[in-house]
Amino acid sequence: MRLGLALIAAAALTFPLAAQNAPNWDAKYRAIPDARNIGEYMKRMSARPHHLGSPYDKDNAEWILAKFKEWGWDAHIETYDALFPTPKERLVEMIAPSAVPLKLEEPAVAIDPTSGQKAEQLPSFNAYSIDGDVTGPVVYVNYGRPQDYEDLERRGISVRGAIVLARYGNSWRGIKPKVAAEHGAVGCLIYSDPMDDGYFNDDIFPDGPTRNGSGVQRGSVMDMPTYPGDPLTPGVGATPDAKRLDIRDATTLTKIPVLPISYADAQPLLAALRGPVVPEPWRGALPLTYHFGPGPARVHMKLAFNWNRVPIYNVIARMQGSTYPDEWVIRGNHHDAWVNGAGDPGSGMSVVLEEARALGELAKQGWRPKRTLIYAAWDGEEQGLLGSTEWVEAHDHDLRDHAVAYVNSDGTGRGFFNPSGSHVLESLVNSVARDVEDPETKGSVWKRAQARAIARGSREERTEARSRSDLRIAALGSGSDYSSFLQHGGVPSLDLRFGGFDSSEGVYHSIYDDYYYYTKFMDTDFAYGRTLALVAGTTMIRLADADLLPFEFTNLADTVQTYLKELQTLLKTQQDEVRERNKQIEDGVFAAINDPKRPLEAPKIEQVAPALNFAPLENAAERLTQAAAKYRKAVDAARPKLTSNSALLRSVNAKLMQAERQMTDEGGLPKRPWYRHLLYAPGFYTGYAVKTMPGVREAIEQKQYASAESEIGRVAKALEREAALLDSISSSLQP
Ligand SMILES: [Zn+2]
Repeated sequence: MRLGLALIAAAALTFPLAAQNAPNWDAKYRAIPDARNIGEYMKRMSARPHHLGSPYDKDNAEWILAKFKEWGWDAHIETYDALFPTPKERLVEMIAPSAVPLKLEEPAVAIDPTSGQKAEQLPSFNAYSIDGDVTGPVVYVNYGRPQDYEDLERRGISVRGAIVLARYGNSWRGIKPKVAAEHGAVGCLIYSDPMDDGYFNDDIFPDGPTRNGSGVQRGSVMDMPTYPGDPLTPGVGATPDAKRLDIRDATTLTKIPVLPISYADAQPLLAALRGPVVPEPWRGALPLTYHFGPGPARVHMKLAFNWNRVPIYNVIARMQGSTYPDEWVIRGNHHDAWVNGAGDPGSGMSVVLEEARALGELAKQGWRPKRTLIYAAWDGEEQGLLGSTEWVEAHDHDLRDHAVAYVNSDGTGRGFFNPSGSHVLESLVNSVARDVEDPETKGSVWKRAQARAIARGSREERTEARSRSDLRIAALGSGSDYSSFLQHGGVPSLDLRFGGFDSSEGVYHSIYDDYYYYTKFMDTDFAYGRTLALVAGTTMIRLADADLLPFEFTNLADTVQTYLKELQTLLKTQQDEVRERNKQIEDGVFAAINDPKRPLEAPKIEQVAPALNFAPLENAAERLTQAAAKYRKAVDAARPKLTSNSALLRSVNAKLMQAERQMTDEGGLPKRPWYRHLLYAPGFYTGYAVKTMPGVREAIEQKQYASAESEIGRVAKALEREAALLDSISSSLQP
């Protein structure tokens, strides 16, 4: 009898869910974050340039460390060493038809106090371009995507031996030199056209928020779709004693030299191009007629870099869980920037810090998270997700056993709540968004996001936004530190940010992304920064404190069904298009509409794609749908049992922690084994943009149908594993 009572008392202590009057900690948390603090942190961290390897980068890491400690966290700095080339020589000159040296300079703007910190600024460049000294005729290649080269080919224009001039936008920058090299170009220049982020859109900086004539977008061109992180240590942490590749064997460096330039520098090159006039979708907003080339403009470019290894300073803070210390809920944002980086990453990093302060404050009020919280400030994100990737690779085995979820942020702004991530977390994110107020409308941020989905959506999307209980979240590709957690580690991940009313695109990765700019054009009073701290902090608390992990598999199964339909439609569309095009070629349509003065070669007859057997995937998706519904029912029925039986609860959670991992495969994706997740990956030819069920989708797009069928089998097996895991949980909950 006594023993029985003692057990019940112990159970009640362990599971305050049962105690009706436990304080509502997540509501208490939301009273703490303060917008002014967010502004102060941003001001401090963006006061000087702080790229990887710079003095102020280290200074910021130490300051962040001190702050975590001040707020009661157990914190340390974890260091890795990664390859980071910085410019030694940058020379680009037009040598014909006239001699014009390019300036390659971003001048200070008088009204902007930090834009003149020249001594600490890295010059504009693309990281992981190889050294090179090349000369060739210029060819304009639009956004430099594979389809742009198809257009060139139909006009009989080759880039072999040429220096391509590509504009930023519509594909990740690293794709542009990759595709250019595949087509035989010897060099690549990337410029920012005013149509994409300049005066075509709004007034230019400093009068307005868009890119001015000398603004340059720095950025990495590492082949991240192959693997991110240190190019010399794929798959393992870049510790001092790690086995390193020879630089010559690092496959993620570019194959040709590449440099970003401003539109002021690009304009004389574009003006000196002849050859056919480009079609409308290729035209930018400069006051000139755009031609393809090649030439007569010829360019000489010479680039040399210091191929140094530099230290990465990741700041890692822990708050030990009271009940499940071995289950980790992880939150992160990067602290390094290309220059002063107030927007990218300061706007997100400051929010993450304010959450850490508020959680520390909550702990002083008596709260302890049930699971362990880890807050991270990553270094070297801009170069290619170096800090987070090396950390994930170094802790791969620990993460498999302990990681519950990873919640990322990066640059954030004013407007709509914009979550993306793993679909098992879709329901959780929706529930949090319903409980947080939008600072402008005073309704919930969920309500405002729903209104946008209705206003912007197709008929089908509108119906869904009105009737589906959760708003859909987008899948994750790449572009920030969630990539390694989700796609290498199989850790369910989220990326949370606000935006839509403002855009820092016009100063993205330039010397003008600073505190002056952010407080003039972005979330000027940090009201949305504070709102992000409320949303993300609440998400962290719910992940840490929920007795049963808040994963919802019906959302996942529903999403998987939509991906399957998309793949079937993709194949069908491809078949229809090729059939129609072949017919037009055979009927002489191309020859009849051809303008002999601007000749366009007819495309070549192509094989129509064969039928693919989607049955394994259809069956697996159906099985997952049923298993998810059964799991939901079993859990709802077993609630009382789960709150009283801690051993059962622990075993269910242990299985749930492996759920996302079921959809990964040790073999990885075709040609890129580092990417283990079979549902989500960045596109091989799009860069940041996601490809869902990438093995199948990219095989269809690239017309490798045998590979598409075997990938269908692998994805189906992964979904079957997921369904089997859910079924085993459901049966363990049977009375
Ligand atoms: Zn960033």
